[in-house]
Amino acid sequence: MKIKIYRGTKEIGGTCVEITADNGKILWIDLGVPLSTTNPDTSYRNNKVDALLISHPHQDHFGLMESVGSEVPVYIGQVSEDLIKATKRFLGIDPPLCNFQRLTPWKEIKILDTFKVYSYLVDHSSPEGLAFLIEVDGKRVFYSGDFRSTGRKGFLYDRMISNPPKNINLLLIEGTMVERSKQEYETEAEVERAITDIVMNQQNMTFVVSAAQNIDRFCSVFTACLKANKMLIIDVYTAFVLELVSKMSNRLPTIDAHRILVYNPKSQMDKVTEEEFVDFVTRVNTKALHNGVFVKPEKFVYFLRFPQKKFVNALFTTNKNNVNLIYSQWGGYLKERYKVPSTDTINKLKVQKNINFSHIHTSGHAPVEELIELAKAISPEKIVPIHTENPTKMKLEFAAAGLANVELWDDGLEYSL
Ligand SMILES: [Zn+2]
Ligand SMILES: [Zn+2]
Repeated sequence: MKIKIYRGTKEIGGTCVEITADNGKILWIDLGVPLSTTNPDTSYRNNKVDALLISHPHQDHFGLMESVGSEVPVYIGQVSEDLIKATKRFLGIDPPLCNFQRLTPWKEIKILDTFKVYSYLVDHSSPEGLAFLIEVDGKRVFYSGDFRSTGRKGFLYDRMISNPPKNINLLLIEGTMVERSKQEYETEAEVERAITDIVMNQQNMTFVVSAAQNIDRFCSVFTACLKANKMLIIDVYTAFVLELVSKMSNRLPTIDAHRILVYNPKSQMDKVTEEEFVDFVTRVNTKALHNGVFVKPEKFVYFLRFPQKKFVNALFTTNKNNVNLIYSQWGGYLKERYKVPSTDTINKLKVQKNINFSHIHTSGHAPVEELIELAKAISPEKIVPIHTENPTKMKLEFAAAGLANVELWDDGLEYSL
């Protein structure tokens, strides 16, 4: 078999790996949008492919998947498919025209009568992150996907360390954190404690800015509200995401939880028509946010992606105390290089006198020590870094830990296995 990394040997995001079997069948793993703008060329996405695996519903892994057309099977988890469709629905974009096929964690499937694929559920900032063991032509490749050990599903990491995949010829392992600085908060539990401290003492509303699909973070904020006796406001999109993910875990709170209220502007309600979602729409309307929020804003916490300046300033009409703004995602998004739609608004709000700003976040990715620990547990013949900005540093750190079998590959070059 032959293997090629179209993109990802020297960058985070835009990941796409190609495995070509001896019989000529071609399997791709992930087809993501590049995060960095330095190399806009993604023309490889139009190359011939017979099947595609998607590890998780983050743009840098699935964003270009529709390029394979509507015939090629796209293997994906149920929650991932649902979440991708939900995002498009609320953006007002048509659902993806893909030939979706199902991947189920802890199950092996045979693809194109050629590739044996076993999916492992991993701990990541997405609720359904998968790693893959792919077997073809007598060779075994393990693709780590994006993973960590410090979230609410950290036990999955421990389980993999104690019972790792065996006889692996090639390990493709992510190395996001090789280049990112040490974090102030190392675990989701620490994040939850820090948010709870702020919410317990809030004198006006607290805003927590995060991604709706970061379910671990949502749970941290929800728990903080339970402990501090606050009401938690979410929007219709977040409510919809919770509905989808709670299908996988019945311990997850939904809009029916006593502490939750939903901000339901018409623009969002238009995306979930009553004919299609009669039960959901009814439940959202019974939990709709009321104007009381401006009377006693100190009773509320707002979990959202994009704070509106007008809304924030309206809170000061009845309550002159400072508002808390907790930025709870990767700090890079506040920088020009990785700018997102909310960047300018947050940067303006964070310096406002009557706002207490804090950055409370932990990464979705494992630190180098854990990458090394996992690589040692799997003990593959060959290790190739992927999803990293500094593969050279990764190779050196692995070598210092006694792993001399790290190979650095180049984008677009084919290697035999
Ligand atoms: Zn990623
Ligand atoms: Zn990811």
